[in-house]
Amino acid sequence: MSDPANKRAHYDGPVTERERWRNDTGNQRIYPLRQVTPTTLDQLREIVGEAESEGIAVRAVGSGHSWSDVALTDGILVRPDGLTEWLELDRTLLRAEHRDPGEDAEVTLVQVQAGMKIAELNANLQARGLALPNMGGFDGQTVAGVVSTSTHGSGIAFGPLSDLVRSLEIVAAKGAVYRIESSDGITDAAAYRARHPDRQLVQDDDWFDAAVVGVGCMGLIYSLILAVRPLFYVREKRCLSTWSRVRDELAQGSASPVLAEYAHYELLFNPYPRKDGEIECLITTREPVSPSEYRHDHRRSRSLLMELAARFPLTPILIDLAIRLWPQISPFLISRALKALVNPDYVNISYRVFNIGAANYLPAYSAEIGVPIDEGDLHLKAVEKIVDVAAERRRLGGVYHSCGISLRFVKATRSCLSMMEGHDTMMIELIMSKHTIGGYELLNAHEQALYELHGRPHWGQVNTLTGSHGLIQKMYPRYGDWQRIHEQLNASGVFDSPFSKRVGFSSATFDG
Ligand SMILES: Cc1cc2nc3c(=O)[nH]c(=O)nc-3n(C[C@H](O)[C@H](O)[C@H](O)COP(=O)(O)OP(=O)(O)OC[C@H]3O[C@@H](n4cnc5c(N)ncnc54)[C@H](O)[C@@H]3O)c2cc1C
Repeated sequence: MSDPANKRAHYDGPVTERERWRNDTGNQRIYPLRQVTPTTLDQLREIVGEAESEGIAVRAVGSGHSWSDVALTDGILVRPDGLTEWLELDRTLLRAEHRDPGEDAEVTLVQVQAGMKIAELNANLQARGLALPNMGGFDGQTVAGVVSTSTHGSGIAFGPLSDLVRSLEIVAAKGAVYRIESSDGITDAAAYRARHPDRQLVQDDDWFDAAVVGVGCMGLIYSLILAVRPLFYVREKRCLSTWSRVRDELAQGSASPVLAEYAHYELLFNPYPRKDGEIECLITTREPVSPSEYRHDHRRSRSLLMELAARFPLTPILIDLAIRLWPQISPFLISRALKALVNPDYVNISYRVFNIGAANYLPAYSAEIGVPIDEGDLHLKAVEKIVDVAAERRRLGGVYHSCGISLRFVKATRSCLSMMEGHDTMMIELIMSKHTIGGYELLNAHEQALYELHGRPHWGQVNTLTGSHGLIQKMYPRYGDWQRIHEQLNASGVFDSPFSKRVGFSSATFDG
């Protein structure tokens, strides 16, 4: 509740106390000491200073679309709503080659505040004839939120969204403001230092690779400079196939012809085999089309019936009820859903096609595990492992998946804590309808099984990673680089959180 009488010494923007924060799905809840809504870089500095002087933690949240505890804080929670502006990029601060991109540039740099939602970013880009080169299947998250957890789409030539970042402006411990870029960064160091003598420009690959996917632990991101492309159009097709066929098509890992043939290739499969032993798959391909193809093709939406059914308020209730009463019908329902999603053609502006649409609004949660596709047949074994785990849990406890399982393909990145660090990766998303009985336990069984195949869980999705037994060090070879930068940006521990303690990024002290 707002308390106007409660004047702060430094930050004097809106403050609420005794108010619960919950993520969008409602499976993560916490009562932070305060919630604040800053609008300026200076206010972010004041908030960090205030937290440090009080000895409490601070963490920025995005739109709360992580299903994991990654955004929780018991100290000061920084809401994104005051930091949603499109910023006019000051090109006089850039190196000469970036100052004037020209009308026909393939890459354009744009700058936005951290809390802008992907939907607003897309609208802003479209208004300027620009677009994200790729995106995830949803647009409700904030820019800082997707970057911080290495959110991704599908397409083996495309890294996660964090790879679009060219410069990151962040408020670190002691309220220090950093502009962090790769060693060949876009900023003209002399011009920047002359303009902002009180800020630190760091152009260093180790710093950049660590800070971008910072999972909220590196500080409060104020703004980001992103590399985007000219506006474009995309055609989507969805057809049915079977795992035995797809298995052959994916046998060559990231060099598989099918991944090169389609710019964006992904699939959804039913983990419960048919009577003939086949696993049903729905293949989705997306490819850029020319503006004239777009103009001549008028199939501007997916199945209207499916979109309406997904948005109909009773749909999730009926699905949940059916699965609770007769869990054994889940394999049939998943099979029907795959068939209903078949769609010969859908053409639209890129971001509308990348967004999977109304399915995002069905109450659900998911875990997502990345398995390398450049290490022999680990990715194929992973799918077969999932089928085995699903069968075992059904046999032993009558537990069922309530949705199909998605496979997406993402290019390797350098970001130290990205799930795609160092490897082209197949991301396996295990989605559960919100009230699935035993759903979290089933996800955990898959997570544990996939560790054996070098699986790395998505930071923003349900996971049970812990800092014990050096698990994260083994999973992420550049964890040491990440921690080195983390210890500098978070020198006072002000960005520690329940999540950072769980995974061992920060630890409680014990003087015995
Ligand atoms: C319906 C739905 C669809 C999804 N689709 C995909 C998908 O297609 N691909 C995929 O990879 N993931 C997907 N996700 C997961 C989602 O993209 C990530 O969990 C993402 O991080 C959520 O962003 P957010 O803005 O909601 O941030 P939050 O969940 O609120 O926070 C995520 C992290 O970002 C940090 N953070 C946020 N803002 C700041 C800031 N200003 N400074 C510092 N740290 C900050 C938080 O501290 C936290 O650590 C989906 C989730 C949902 C609910």
